[in-house]
Amino acid sequence: MPNDFLDQCRVRLGEQYVLTDPADTAPFLLDWRKRFQGTALAVLRPGSAGEVADVVALCAAHGVAIVPQGGNTGLCGGATPDTSGGQVVLSLQRLNRIRNVDTINDTITVEAGCILQVIQAEAAAAGRLFPLSLAAEGSCTIGGNLSTNAGGTGVLRYGNARELCLGLEVVTPQGELWDGLRGLRKNNTGYDLRDLYIGAEGTLGIITAAVLKLYPAPAAQLTALAGLATPRDALALLDLARRMAGPLLTGFELMSDFCLALVGKHYPHMRYPFAERQPQTVLLELSDSESESHAREIFERLMEAAFEQGIVRDAVVAESGAQSQALWDLREHIPLAQADEGKNIKHDVSVPISRIADFIEATDAALADAFPGLRMVTFGHLGDGNLHYNVSPPEGTDYDAFLVNQASINRLVHDSVHAHDGSISAEHGLGQLKREEIVRYKSPLEIRLMQAIKQALDPQGIMNPGKVV
Ligand SMILES: Cc1cc2nc3c(=O)[nH]c(=O)nc-3n(C[C@H](O)[C@H](O)[C@H](O)COP(=O)(O)OP(=O)(O)OC[C@H]3O[C@@H](n4cnc5c(N)ncnc54)[C@H](O)[C@@H]3O)c2cc1C
Repeated sequence: MPNDFLDQCRVRLGEQYVLTDPADTAPFLLDWRKRFQGTALAVLRPGSAGEVADVVALCAAHGVAIVPQGGNTGLCGGATPDTSGGQVVLSLQRLNRIRNVDTINDTITVEAGCILQVIQAEAAAAGRLFPLSLAAEGSCTIGGNLSTNAGGTGVLRYGNARELCLGLEVVTPQGELWDGLRGLRKNNTGYDLRDLYIGAEGTLGIITAAVLKLYPAPAAQLTALAGLATPRDALALLDLARRMAGPLLTGFELMSDFCLALVGKHYPHMRYPFAERQPQTVLLELSDSESESHAREIFERLMEAAFEQGIVRDAVVAESGAQSQALWDLREHIPLAQADEGKNIKHDVSVPISRIADFIEATDAALADAFPGLRMVTFGHLGDGNLHYNVSPPEGTDYDAFLVNQASINRLVHDSVHAHDGSISAEHGLGQLKREEIVRYKSPLEIRLMQAIKQALDPQGIMNPGKVV
């Protein structure tokens, strides 16, 4: 069967787009964090939605399970096949055309394999902003962003990937092509299928194209850094910034001192911004439709008020767009520096914004009690209630040996998230990493409803099995 199946794939896609040589398939079989290593019957690389539909129909006919893959930057092993060698990876990277830009409707229609940064650049060339932005934007694809409902740094003002998508084109697990590429902001005509596929991590179908919302390009984007004592002070600053800057506030990121120390260690050319070390740093971004000087005025007033109220201890306001980018670089190098440092235990969690400081205090204390010497790499999108609450081993501990504590550390952190009314996956999804874990925190009814949807749309169970549900 495999040979017959692969031969038919070769006929449909062309020999060079059916990869079976281990040297060719290797990059598709290991996840970005190098936590999940799979094997595959083949990596299929269709070049159009029609080709995707045809090879999915072939997979359905032969009962071959499919693992969709975009840029392979996901952090939960969702795009990695299992070790059976019987699954195919279906790479969307060749579906990389911008189909349409409509500046009156303020939409862009793109294929699933378009790299996020390319979409941002196309939007900019049309004088618009596509506001989804994350550190992996140079290699992640919009299909992957939508399938994981990615968040990133603009959620505070613009929402997650879900809020940025008006329509989808999807190949069903039976190989049919659904054209839902509607550029409508209002459409109440029954169940919202688009919302089902967004965040489904490839378990319900394959996204082949999307209509995305565009926004006016701001005249200026300026950032500032504030040094503070505690996450509680950061919440006070958020409250003040929202009151003084209103909708101009587009970013509010928290970084603990250990995060910036890691960046300094692995990227020594990046300068620490303050004269003295600060326990916590907040990066604020304003997107201003008037001018850079208007944004700077607002920042100056804001920081003055924050100093007066004893909220901040030091502050740096960027002088230009280039300096703003340099400040963002500090934030965006945290995950990279963390990866350079060695293995760590990641938690991508959210709690109501008002409970973030309580959560950090309570969970830090419980972890320090149970595992003395742990070093917390706590950073994230504070303005969205989303923390990357990552745990590095005590100084001098062997990183691999430390990972034996993973299950008990996860339990402690996730129980605390749950006790603070939060979510154990804020923006990275469940993949294979959190598939079992989520059962503990969702009600049996919620899990049953999810399983019913999966069963209805993919009764054969060939779409990314072993992930999410
Ligand atoms: C350095 C770094 C920083 C990151 N920062 C953030 C961040 O700030 N916010 C955030 O939300 N995420 C972040 N991520 C993770 C984020 O989920 C991914 O970068 C991105 O959204 C996934 O896109 P991808 O194309 O790489 O998808 P992949 O990794 O290839 O796939 C992810 C999931 O989507 C499925 N999938 C992929 N394409 C399709 C498709 N066309 N149709 C159906 N299913 C599909 C896969 O099967 C898999 O389950 C970061 C990752 C890295 C490495």
